[in-house]
Amino acid sequence: MSVNVLFAGRPDRWAEYQPLLDAALAREGIDAHVSPEIAPEEVDYIVYAPNGPVQDFTSYTRAKAVLSLWAGVEKIVDNETLTQPLTRMVDDGLRRGMVEWVTGHVLRHHLGMDAHIVNPDCVWKQGAPPLAPDRPVTILGLGALGIACAEALMGLGFPVTGWSRGPKDVPGVRCLAGNAGLDAALEGAEIVVLLLPQTPETENTLDARRLALLPRGAVILNPGRGPLIDDDALLAALDEGHIGHATLDTFRVEPLPDDHPYWRHPRVTVTPHIASDTRAGTAADVIAENIRRSEAGEPLLHLVNRTLGY
Ligand code: NDP
Repeated sequence: MSVNVLFAGRPDRWAEYQPLLDAALAREGIDAHVSPEIAPEEVDYIVYAPNGPVQDFTSYTRAKAVLSLWAGVEKIVDNETLTQPLTRMVDDGLRRGMVEWVTGHVLRHHLGMDAHIVNPDCVWKQGAPPLAPDRPVTILGLGALGIACAEALMGLGFPVTGWSRGPKDVPGVRCLAGNAGLDAALEGAEIVVLLLPQTPETENTLDARRLALLPRGAVILNPGRGPLIDDDALLAALDEGHIGHATLDTFRVEPLPDDHPYWRHPRVTVTPHIASDTRAGTAADVIAENIRRSEAGEPLLHLVNRTLGY
């Protein structure tokens, strides 16, 4: 029997996704009709994105699952019209992109590259940075993306501490959990990377008290979500020089408003939520595998726990 898969991602991505989803479903042995236009009562699976056309699921009475193209699900997790299981995206392309962004920005700050890239007075100023083993890095969030970044940074020699909700055991990483673990993870961290999901519990994870635990001059990278940081506390810590630099990819309001102080702050780098993107080729495989699993009565991969919010 054929299954109807509604593509409810961003409409301008349909042309890219169509052949990839068709091919991935065929490889999984699924006879499927994939389209951005299917009558709601005939839809079996919904491929979803927060910037796509479907945000009210009431009329999708036959749908067996909603398969998000995004890793972060904060925009859908509280949707009361959603009664079907929800999966989030864990995709090799997304993972690789995040590893590249995080590694690149860690190395920028670790090596002090700005001093040579921006040198209008042509100053010949030598000086070697410490080597990676002398630069402690902490990653808040040890999930699909946090672990991949931890492993890449360890490969370069950085001592990595990771923090998660529940206890974790990642070889080579100093793994901490819970509130007490967070304080310990921040003390001594010269570079902090936020890769937590946005949930009621993670809001303002970096507040004034916790920013003060970091050593003077520490650098913050936030590819996670804007609300993880108390913006006023961060701006105060940057103004005072306690935080040396913040490279921010995610914000409470996106696009970041023109008059936001982050844009022009000398210690802030703004990147426009581009740290990593779902890649259609690898994402189509994940979607197809989950549809096969659902049809076979197997558990779905990357199921969202709607109580925890991620
Ligand atoms: P995962 O769900 O795999 O990992 C989340 C991690 O955060 C887990 O280790 C989890 O702990 C931890 N966590 C959750 N809540 C808490 C808490 N209250 N206290 C401590 N730790 C907590 O997510 P991913 O790694 O796939 O993605 C992380 C986030 O990255 C996404 O939610 C999204 O916001 C962001 N992202 C940003 C992109 C960008 O371009 N800027 C692109 C893609 C994702 P535990 O292991 O115990 O469950």
